[in-house]
Amino acid sequence: MQITKITTYRIPPRWMLLKIETDAGIVGWGEPVIEGRARTVETAVHEFTPNLIGKDPSRINDLWHEMYRGSFYRGGPILMSAIAGIDQALWDIKGKALGVPVYQLLGGLVRDKMKTYSWVGGDRPADVINSIRKLRESGFDTFKMNGTEELAMIDTSIAIDAAVARVAEIRSAFGNEIEFGLDFHGRVSAPMAKVLLRELEPYRPLFVEEPVLAENAEHYPHLAACTSIPLAAGERMYSRWEFKRVFEQGGISIVQPDLSHAGGITECLKIGSMAESYDVALAPHCPLGPIALAACLHVDFVSHNAVLQEQSMGIHYNNGAELLDYVLNRDDFKMTDGYIQPFTKPGLGVEINEERVIEASKNAEDWRNPIWRHPDGSMAEW
Ligand SMILES: [Mg+2]
Repeated sequence: MQITKITTYRIPPRWMLLKIETDAGIVGWGEPVIEGRARTVETAVHEFTPNLIGKDPSRINDLWHEMYRGSFYRGGPILMSAIAGIDQALWDIKGKALGVPVYQLLGGLVRDKMKTYSWVGGDRPADVINSIRKLRESGFDTFKMNGTEELAMIDTSIAIDAAVARVAEIRSAFGNEIEFGLDFHGRVSAPMAKVLLRELEPYRPLFVEEPVLAENAEHYPHLAACTSIPLAAGERMYSRWEFKRVFEQGGISIVQPDLSHAGGITECLKIGSMAESYDVALAPHCPLGPIALAACLHVDFVSHNAVLQEQSMGIHYNNGAELLDYVLNRDDFKMTDGYIQPFTKPGLGVEINEERVIEASKNAEDWRNPIWRHPDGSMAEW
């Protein structure tokens, strides 16, 4: 079998799909994207394309290394997202060629169903109680929300009280009926993270995500020493070599590699295994589309330490399209009490509505993350 063609489709809300065609007529789908830089990743995909045409798609490991090691300047969000999408499509092709789901090629299931959680509360967390109540009706009992709005490097007791009051309200409304993680989203500086973690500890959040920015990862062990709340991070780390340093220094209880940002299934499987050997849980990041979610699930279903799967249905970013809009086999994405079953179709198990994708790609806007500023006019982290 040979790769004959690679096509990319940028689609709403802020995603990109990739199609790899072969001379055997088998087609694989991938989802290479960095939110807000879809065109840049698209260019990187097409820079890899000439070296992939004519190659045997079954040699995923070798093609991965050719893309990674063949780039003298390597790593980072753009290149690793391009590799991720190509890698996912190659696994899709391999599964379809052999007639089995990807998790079978990875050694088979370690669990019967995978627990997912749902986002609530939007960019600036608000109306969280009502959102949780609604999602409780469809069976979800685990949630994630932004922990704060923008926060200055040293902020006021009013800002701290606002963040803590919201969390206190949730615990008092739902008790132990629900669990929730808090995403600090890199908005919180190391000094404020220390204050907030201590104040939030009595409400026992399931985890705090990106307590400080990934580029300040040296603070993770110090913060972990100050709190019993499990700390999570990883959506802005792109290869096992970046995760290696975090595992070695300690402090993170849950790693969250993104299957569309960190080199795909091939790389994230390895990151998950490294995590297991450090007694660190795996919870892949995925506010993305159907192929990215499917790729995550195949890794979850073969990883003993996979504890939670993020998914984007109903998330505040999904303006203009939802995950299932691009899927023909929607029933396979059905969630029962927040759990999803292993897909049974060959490959990644997603039947893409290609007509819909082509149509949607015709007028896809370029999504950009908001630019936030503090009251004094200086840049704030979004
Ligand atoms: Mg996050």
